[in-house]
Amino acid sequence: MTDSHEYTLPRLPGTDWPQMQPGWVWLVGAGPGDPGLLTIHAVNALSQADVIVHDALVAPEILSWAQPGTEIIYAGKRGGKPSAKQRDISLQLVDLARAGKKVLRLKGGDPFVFGRGGEEGQTLVQHGVPIRIIPGISAGIGGLAYAGIPVTHRDVNQSVTFVTGHDQSGDTPGSLDWAAIARGSQVIVIYMGMKHLDRIRAALMEAGRPADEPVAITSNATTPDQRVLETTLGTCLEDAARDGIEAPAIICVGRAVLMRQALDWQALAAGMAPRNTDPLGRGRPAEDR
Ligand code: SAH
Repeated sequence: MTDSHEYTLPRLPGTDWPQMQPGWVWLVGAGPGDPGLLTIHAVNALSQADVIVHDALVAPEILSWAQPGTEIIYAGKRGGKPSAKQRDISLQLVDLARAGKKVLRLKGGDPFVFGRGGEEGQTLVQHGVPIRIIPGISAGIGGLAYAGIPVTHRDVNQSVTFVTGHDQSGDTPGSLDWAAIARGSQVIVIYMGMKHLDRIRAALMEAGRPADEPVAITSNATTPDQRVLETTLGTCLEDAARDGIEAPAIICVGRAVLMRQALDWQALAAGMAPRNTDPLGRGRPAEDR
């Protein structure tokens, strides 16, 4: 370990950055990928941690912001690499804290959104380890914003439903009441949905969602590899297969997807004209009416 700081935190008025204490675990969200989407609290933690335990979805660039000498432990559970069991990860955090380390548990997106941060936090508390939670920008909100899709829009929805395409066994989406979700939510944002896209689509259509309903699949959102496939409920399986788009991806079902025709800000920044400035056909924006 070294005390040298490679960067200093921005000096903002009235801020007193919390110090990490030995024996504590901070459960920190790293956002969906783009390092600029870290919170300042997360950067503060990166500058102090003795050890960082991170997931696969945390960008290498973010880890490179740790202090030189920081121990970096990979605890991801992605295909291909050996997978750590959730219980083992939590107990490893307990051990590191008990060894007097300042432990930064860095998770993709927000630690409490489909990230098992709640489970890890509970195990830590049950073992008497003090914790701090630092939220992050979740892929289902920030990732879609990078695709130019607002998860709520006055002309489309008053609610949004975030669902996981995996149930606790990690296998099937069978434990969700898809019919209720289909009836109750105009916009549905699905995490971990690629594996069971066929079943999810079938369930939504059986519950009455139309085949021509807009769907966007956004993979590697906010990273240089971001890709967005605009499709429909009826054709999304075939289109995804043809396109080759893969996890990690966020699936958004609903008319909010159409707003991308106006709000694809990355295309606009690249000099393209908006495809449609009134994708919902309402004339002026709701705020003008
Ligand atoms: N805690 C995370 C979610 C973890 S679950 C969060 O709040 O974002 C992992 C799933 O999140 C992936 O299967 C994918 O559906 C989604 N995800 C995470 N990062 C993503 C990214 N950069 N682009 C697209 N989807 C992402």
